[in-house]
Amino acid sequence: MGSLQSLPGLSDLLPSDTPLWQRIEATAREHFRRAAIGEIRTPMLEATELFKRGIGEATDVVGKEMYTFLDRGERSCTLRPEGTASVVRAAIQHGLLAKGPQRLWYSGPMFRYERPQKGRRRQFHQIGVELLGVADATSDAEAIAIAWDLLADLGVAGLQLEINSLGTPEDRQRYRAELVSWLEAHHDQLDPDSQNRISTNPLRVLDSKNPDTQALLAGAPTLADALAGESHERFARVRQALEALGIPFVLNPRLVRGLDYYGHTAFEITSNQLGAQATVCGGGRYDGLVEQLGGPPTAAVGWAIGLERLVLLLWQGEAMVEAPAPDLYVISRGEAAEGQALVLTRQGRQAGLVVERDASGGAFGKQFKRADRSGAPWAAVIGDDEAAAGMAKLKDLHGEQPERQLPVLQLVAMVKESLKAASRQP
Ligand code: ATP
Ligand code: MG
Repeated sequence: MGSLQSLPGLSDLLPSDTPLWQRIEATAREHFRRAAIGEIRTPMLEATELFKRGIGEATDVVGKEMYTFLDRGERSCTLRPEGTASVVRAAIQHGLLAKGPQRLWYSGPMFRYERPQKGRRRQFHQIGVELLGVADATSDAEAIAIAWDLLADLGVAGLQLEINSLGTPEDRQRYRAELVSWLEAHHDQLDPDSQNRISTNPLRVLDSKNPDTQALLAGAPTLADALAGESHERFARVRQALEALGIPFVLNPRLVRGLDYYGHTAFEITSNQLGAQATVCGGGRYDGLVEQLGGPPTAAVGWAIGLERLVLLLWQGEAMVEAPAPDLYVISRGEAAEGQALVLTRQGRQAGLVVERDASGGAFGKQFKRADRSGAPWAAVIGDDEAAAGMAKLKDLHGEQPERQLPVLQLVAMVKESLKAASRQP
């Protein structure tokens, strides 16, 4: 029978991968704790309507990337393509917003039916932050600082923060009209995708990945020129706050986010190490979303980091992480000995030791070889004689202490003692 494969764009993370993921997750959790941000966990499956209303029907995500199907109750369901809409839905549903501003983080898999490539998967993972009920410009800078400091602490080098202001809905409407007439005048020079977007989502043309279109757009009108005075002032306050924090940024007037709900501050953190998929973190302000999803008018700002891209960046600097060596390797041979070895193994673990048990039942010589390879400092050896006496032999695998025969509990205590002594040494 042929062997089964995972679906295209859906990856397995093996034990050699997960230590780095765990380090990222632990560091993020610690940063969120210090920033007084609470964790929220929402379902991976939501009503399709949530994303249509939340993200916008004209976006790539909703238009062509969602995993949508009918469940057995004939409801249209969608595997979440991003986290913000679900977080906002949950905040509204549980009345969290009536209790004052909400500082929330989430992490987990997201699903988009895209062409799989380096840094672009169909199941990928995000860690994200949403600050709901905060309107001031300093909160935009605070949200950015949380992402920036997390990435810096993880050791990602060569990052660049790009920011832009998308202004108010009125600003964008004014700009959209200007842009559309410019795009129509240059229709024949645009790539087909961008030509289609003129009528569906013209701002997204600015975000085109086609190099010819990008070059052409250098002459297009910019959003910055279309912003009303108040939007300009607000954006200036965000930049001042970033300067006060010492976070460097570049203005990117063509930065528009792929999701419809953004306004005012939009930002991306990119790396020059990632090739075409350069954005590690994307986010911005989305003051209209809560109301659009049926909640009270609520200003909000947030971001999401793509973990696959972060891992690509960190992987280069990180030595392959080996499984940690056990503290004790348990060797046994013979039925009674194997039973006793299992008891010893469990007692060691209950006492806090990392214990690996050789379950091969093979020759002592082979088991010893594996014990050496495991990197454990100690081996416990149980043969027929030890089993009969309720004892085990303790062997120093790095060679200095003489071998001793001990009752099981004493053996565990000795190994613990020796590890404590070793960790006390400078
Ligand atoms: P891109 O322009 O690269 O498609 P996006 O604007 O669609 O990104 P967002 O929706 O803002 O991305 O998601 C935030 C982050 O999640 C991205 O910056 C990226 O790091 C990550 N991300 C998005 N889509 C994918 C994907 N298909 N595979 C891996 N990571 C992704
Ligand atoms: Mg995308």
